[in-house]
Amino acid sequence: MKKLFLIASLALLMTLAAVTPALASSADDNCRHMLVNKQHLLDSDYVPSSLTPLSNYMAAGGNVTMTAEAAAAIGEMVDAMAAEGLTDIYGQSGYRSYATQKMLNDNKILYYRNLGYSYEHAVELACTVVAAPGASEHQSGLAIDFTTSANGSSLTDSFGTTPVGQWLAANSWKYGFILRYPADKTEITGYIYEPWHFRYVGEPHAEYMYKNDLCLEEYYALLQEEGIITYTTEAGVSYAVRFDQYNNSTNLPADELISVSRAYADSELGFIITTTVPQIELFDITGHWAEAYIRNLTSLGVITGYTDNTFRPEKNISRAEMVSLIYRTYLLLHPNEAGMTDLGLPQYPPVVTESPFIDVPDGAYYLDALLTLQSKDMIAPGLIQNNADGTASFLPEQNALRREVAQSLAPLFTALPDLPSSGIVLKDMVEADPELQAAVQLLVDAGVVTGNASGNFMPDEDITRAEVSTMLDRILTFFGYESENN
Ligand SMILES: [Zn+2]
Repeated sequence: MKKLFLIASLALLMTLAAVTPALASSADDNCRHMLVNKQHLLDSDYVPSSLTPLSNYMAAGGNVTMTAEAAAAIGEMVDAMAAEGLTDIYGQSGYRSYATQKMLNDNKILYYRNLGYSYEHAVELACTVVAAPGASEHQSGLAIDFTTSANGSSLTDSFGTTPVGQWLAANSWKYGFILRYPADKTEITGYIYEPWHFRYVGEPHAEYMYKNDLCLEEYYALLQEEGIITYTTEAGVSYAVRFDQYNNSTNLPADELISVSRAYADSELGFIITTTVPQIELFDITGHWAEAYIRNLTSLGVITGYTDNTFRPEKNISRAEMVSLIYRTYLLLHPNEAGMTDLGLPQYPPVVTESPFIDVPDGAYYLDALLTLQSKDMIAPGLIQNNADGTASFLPEQNALRREVAQSLAPLFTALPDLPSSGIVLKDMVEADPELQAAVQLLVDAGVVTGNASGNFMPDEDITRAEVSTMLDRILTFFGYESENN
């Protein structure tokens, strides 16, 4: 599934410039969030299109350039520093071409070869000091190395103790920059502490990373995991930042859209879409493939979303969320057990306060759901663990697996006579455990599960909130609930 999206996103990438003309002042803005590190290399022919002399904005080397947007932001930042009396700052190194980086790296390899190291060892040592070609953030035109005359115009740790070094570390986020290689993140970034190296990412990303103590790699990993985060800046502007495997920005209202840019998170190519926060319920499902299913479940009271008005459809569902959604679906199908409201929706019973599970707090929002489903034999094998000391655990925050969802849903159909066979058998179910096989086949025959593009169920994979919602809506449709997706 993910592979498919990757191909789709590559195709969309080609048309990105065409679909976002209003918000991008140059093609470089679409690349503002590129992740460049030892795992994510830039192509040898990547050259930013808006390279601008940095000397237009500050004291800098004559051949130092950056993207137009980053250079202008540096101009604002340097002006603010000057207003505070900090003027001893120099733009030492900005955009660096692939060829220049290769030459620097080759020279370093030669240096170690001359010291008697083997070629492989020399390459390894060289790359710890000078990034390999393609692995330098300087090729993006978004990175800058500053120096001061006070620390001898050299790129050393002492820059971090100079007044400008300290000012930049504490304030550069206000101008869209991050200290790219902090001292306590070297294991994650793969680079030593570089107090002189700053990277442009823009608003509100720089502020979010600064306030939450995240480096770029951590920020993208968080975005990929959550699918969307919302954030209100110190200036009082609320933003929603999405990581999307394919560019869904065309589905969003133009007046909310701020930027769309390419990014890599982990190993996936995707888009970072920045918007203001719209005043509509579950705003992040607008244009999502599962929107109709999710809206239908919302109207039935099965789904309520998160407190920041997001649904996070691409986020993997947790065990706690899974039992909660399945329970609400169960109550819709068994109204005599629920006690209906005037609107014909289930009246959820009061929360059980005392938890019998060591890892489920008393009064947890999913505790009723868990206990009821357990009493109905609707909890997949393995979800509840009976420990040797007589206690039980549930691991509520752990991601639910596809087989766990299937085996918790299949019992909804047990009271029915055998379904007519769909004639579809998912390939990886042929040799599967008989109980799992029966559960999945039931859902396939009921039209709830269709399998992936290659005809497999992938029982041990995580499953997204959108995918589970789709299954639940199809179950409600199967049992005769009005659906917009028939
Ligand atoms: Zn640098």
